[in-house]
Amino acid sequence: MVSSVLKIALVYPELLGTYGDGGNGLVLAERVRRRGIAVELETVGINDQMPAASLYLLGGGEDGPQRLGADLLGRSSFASRVGDGSYVFAVCAGLQLLGTTFAVEGDDEYEGLGLVDARTSRGLRRSVGELVVRVDGRPLVGFENHGGVTTLGESLVPLGAVERGVGNDGVVDGFRTATIWASYAHGPLLAMNPWFADQILTTVLGEELEPLATVADRLYDERVATLT
Ligand code: GLN
Repeated sequence: MVSSVLKIALVYPELLGTYGDGGNGLVLAERVRRRGIAVELETVGINDQMPAASLYLLGGGEDGPQRLGADLLGRSSFASRVGDGSYVFAVCAGLQLLGTTFAVEGDDEYEGLGLVDARTSRGLRRSVGELVVRVDGRPLVGFENHGGVTTLGESLVPLGAVERGVGNDGVVDGFRTATIWASYAHGPLLAMNPWFADQILTTVLGEELEPLATVADRLYDERVATLT
């Protein structure tokens, strides 16, 4: 951790927030607070300096804002801070721009941040609908809405296997490194999957957390019970 206060930065929600992914920040901060741990959730606007943070959150976005977001991130200290050990949770457009290249408008290719070996090309049709991914033996539930198809380099581990929907390519979704979680799923994802929020927090805080029994945890169980 950067300090005794857990610092979470929600990056460029005005560009990467069209699907409500900013809610991931609220969920993480609230689940930390309920364990009696100090937390600060900072929103990073497009004119702001990239602050130091233990965990950066990138959301989904439309093609134009995504390109602008990638440009701005490329000119910021984001990549070096991640290289220094900060964690990242990224969704959809955020996932795509962490890779080497992405093509979302037509076949024009844009440079990503190159933090992982992943390439996104344009799919034949948009992937829209429910997404269910098996992550560490549990269903991660959400929805997807994207035109990109993502191919992972051989050494990059997917987040999980797709059980419903498309994710990266119809087979796997997202990716996972020692410091990055990425998925195509919106929801906001962590509101729909509180256990996954806790998995991220346990890693970032480096300590086991007391279990919580919130409405969101109960709703997750109810949602999963419908997946037959
Ligand atoms: N613009 C990207 C695509 O369509 C990402 C969309 C999103 O973030 N939902 O592939």
